[in-house]
Amino acid sequence: MKSAAERNAGHRQALAAKVLAAGIKHGKTLEAIATVPRHAFMDAGMHPQAYEDTALPIGHSQTISKPSVVARMIELLHKPKQSLGKVLEIGTGCGYQAAVLSLLSDEVYSIERIRPLHDMAREKLRPFRIKNLRLIYGDGILGLPQAAPFDAIILAAAGLGIPDALLEQLAIGGRLVAPVAKNEKEQQLIMVERMSSQRYQRTVLDEVFFVPLQSGVV
Ligand code: SAH
Repeated sequence: MKSAAERNAGHRQALAAKVLAAGIKHGKTLEAIATVPRHAFMDAGMHPQAYEDTALPIGHSQTISKPSVVARMIELLHKPKQSLGKVLEIGTGCGYQAAVLSLLSDEVYSIERIRPLHDMAREKLRPFRIKNLRLIYGDGILGLPQAAPFDAIILAAAGLGIPDALLEQLAIGGRLVAPVAKNEKEQQLIMVERMSSQRYQRTVLDEVFFVPLQSGVV
């Protein structure tokens, strides 16, 4: 009979295979998806669905993002043959994507505006003892000027545009990936690369569905 650890390794590999089948080819990102136990970021009642490629509720009207979308965004942040360097994540939620990012980056700063979710992420992440991850309770629309500039910025919630503070806190040569609302129903994934202090190159990508980016803290 297989041990629980062996079974979980199988589930993680199977999830990475689903993410590959969804079109994500970046090897290190797929390895990170195959490494992080997604069920550990959810309540026990959701564990049977943890290795499906779907978004799932985490309370407070928020969700844990869909793994293939997490992987797609992280793939887009990567420049050829480079690690992600110093990363800023807006919308920690339960902490799953932050754990994935920590495997691919030098440092990760992750901001959450809902206090109970920030506290939950801290608790869920504690057993992993991730040394290069900092969780911050605050409004991610303002970014984190004290730790800027960032080589990569990733938003896990959709705004009507990309906050100016985040564009300012992006390093020259750095990339930002965000879902942006087109109208009430449609959202698009946008990738922005900072070419110089004044010039940003913007690419519109896939249709996506994320929870809204909201201002202030609760
Ligand atoms: N990264 C998570 C996804 C969480 S859902 C994962 O690994 O699955 C998106 C999160 O963004 C929610 O928890 C929501 O509260 C948060 N959020 C929305 N607006 C925000 C803001 N202005 N600053 C920080 N977090 C924000």
